Amino acid sequence: MKHEYDVIIVGAGLAGLRAAIELGEETRVAVITKVFATRSHSGAAQGGIGASLGNEEEDSWEWHMFDTVKGSDYLGDQDAIEIMAKDAPRTIYELEHIGVPFNRTAEGKIAQRAFGGHTSGFGKAPVKRACFAADRTGRVILDTLWEKSLQRGIRFFDEFHILSLIVNDHQCCGVTAYEIATGEIHVFQSKAVLLATGGAGKIFKTTSNALASTGDGMAVAYRAGAPLEDMEFVQFHPTGIYKLGILISEAARGEGGILRNNEGERFMERYAPTIKDLAPRDMVSRCILEEVRAGRGIDGKDYVHLDLTHLGPEVNDTKLAEITGFARTYAGVEPNKEPIPVQPTCHYMMGGIASNADGQVISDSQGNIFTGLYAAGECACVSVHGANRLGCNSLLDTLVFGRRSGKQLRKFIHSIGLPPVPETTEQQEKEKLQRLMNGPGKEKYGAIQAEMQEVMMEKVSVFRTASGLTEALEKVRALKQRYARITVSDQGSCFNRELLDVLELENMLDLAEVIAAGALYREESRGAHFREDFPTRDDSKFLVHTLAACRPDQEPELFTKPVTITRFEPQERKY
Ligand SMILES: Cc1cc2nc3c(=O)[nH]c(=O)nc-3n(C[C@H](O)[C@H](O)[C@H](O)COP(=O)(O)OP(=O)(O)OC[C@H]3O[C@@H](n4cnc5c(N)ncnc54)[C@H](O)[C@@H]3O)c2cc1C
Repeated sequence: MKHEYDVIIVGAGLAGLRAAIELGEETRVAVITKVFATRSHSGAAQGGIGASLGNEEEDSWEWHMFDTVKGSDYLGDQDAIEIMAKDAPRTIYELEHIGVPFNRTAEGKIAQRAFGGHTSGFGKAPVKRACFAADRTGRVILDTLWEKSLQRGIRFFDEFHILSLIVNDHQCCGVTAYEIATGEIHVFQSKAVLLATGGAGKIFKTTSNALASTGDGMAVAYRAGAPLEDMEFVQFHPTGIYKLGILISEAARGEGGILRNNEGERFMERYAPTIKDLAPRDMVSRCILEEVRAGRGIDGKDYVHLDLTHLGPEVNDTKLAEITGFARTYAGVEPNKEPIPVQPTCHYMMGGIASNADGQVISDSQGNIFTGLYAAGECACVSVHGANRLGCNSLLDTLVFGRRSGKQLRKFIHSIGLPPVPETTEQQEKEKLQRLMNGPGKEKYGAIQAEMQEVMMEKVSVFRTASGLTEALEKVRALKQRYARITVSDQGSCFNRELLDVLELENMLDLAEVIAAGALYREESRGAHFREDFPTRDDSKFLVHTLAACRPDQEPELFTKPVTITRFEPQERKY
């Protein structure tokens, strides 16, 4: 089936919905999403959204900008970070005005709490900057934006899985999608496409991410010729529930929670004397694993304790109700009386589709624009998070740059007509699916996926070495070859989950290769990328973004581009 729109937005998380609302009623816009819109991973965000409102104590956007630059280990582009930090208070008031039910202070202002890496006075002390709605912040924002987009008459294609970008003569002119309920292929022709497909945590064995976070948008853009930026920077959140990876928000430490080792020691005091448990995530994750390596994990195992007992039910059962519920249900502990067992869990992709602050995707090393292709949210790399994202900056990023992409798209679509789509598009996709369904091979997706997740977790997570990364790369490449012999046993056309898993696996394998290749190339330690064989940051060689371009049937081509530095020269990162 064929459809025509001015703009196709892929993804109904905060980035996609915010852009859709900006495009509003005058534009023919459709949102395609593989899960029902309000099931997007944004709805799982717990802790908060950062903005220097100064409602609880003095704050300023310059401090927010500085913290983000420092948190990024100086790899974030400072022009983009400045835009985000300055636009944050406006973004929060906009949410308030459309009905987001934030927690309030006693005088009725929007309440704020502390979060990792957010400080006052350029790093002097923790500051309360995170606006929140209990520990369901993403949920209330997502639901409110969704209602707003229904009001605006935006058309949703729920449970449609995009297969590819349609590119004609170097211009993006739509997407192909698979309708999950029927197995039908749809061709969406449009003047522009905005990818807002979120993260890719499912590449790793332990993750806080939803099942849908398989990096589809990044992978289809990469295969269509858009380079991926800084993919080696993968964030491990320090506090996932032991063995499961389900997130215990940093808000728990923002409200006063404490990490303890087997000896009951508050070990973060040793590593980050100024901000202790509220050090940035890359540091805290490494510190937890250092404790484990030194034999101070709980009972000698690979986890530590997050202690919330002293906060009492008045905090735990109100401001942290969701996560204390998770601890009871999934870890079987009573957080008012016992500590929660936690270990680092794959949480966030700092890298993504190389794009600028107006959402335009970059097509090459010269910084030329990929006509008609836009990206925003976690699948994009603007880059505001550099080598390590601070908590509460992602929800902000999705909204600030989702809105800016919408504005830019509005200008762009007025300047052009509907570009033609090649006649063969639908047939090509049908043939590809037929090959997967009827292939002669014997490989099954489950085994390949498990081996990929295992090797990425073991060799490409918090600690990395050249030999481990080389091993991981070889393994991923071998898995890609096995993928070519994959077969789908379910021949059905209605909710064929096996086929969808197979499609997602192709995307994850491509991204896993780029992550490992970038990590091997970057012979330094910066932010979330820690090389045991190169344990220090090397600004002389690596104060650059890594870009990876897809070459069919070959390894990715890696190149670099400079980091934009405006206000803050790189310094040693101490907390
Ligand atoms: C558990 C958890 C807690 C978090 N807490 C916070 C927090 O407190 N503060 C903060 O700032 N950040 C937080 N984050 C990070 C933040 O929530 C995410 O980075 C952000 O919400 C991503 O939004 P997005 O709009 O880019 O994508 P998502 O919300 O992930 O949405 C992706 C969309 O893309 C669609 N999609 C994907 N692939 C396809 C395809 N092939 N075809 C069609 N549609 C597709 C999906 O259906 C979905 O609608 C948290 C993340 C997690 C996992």
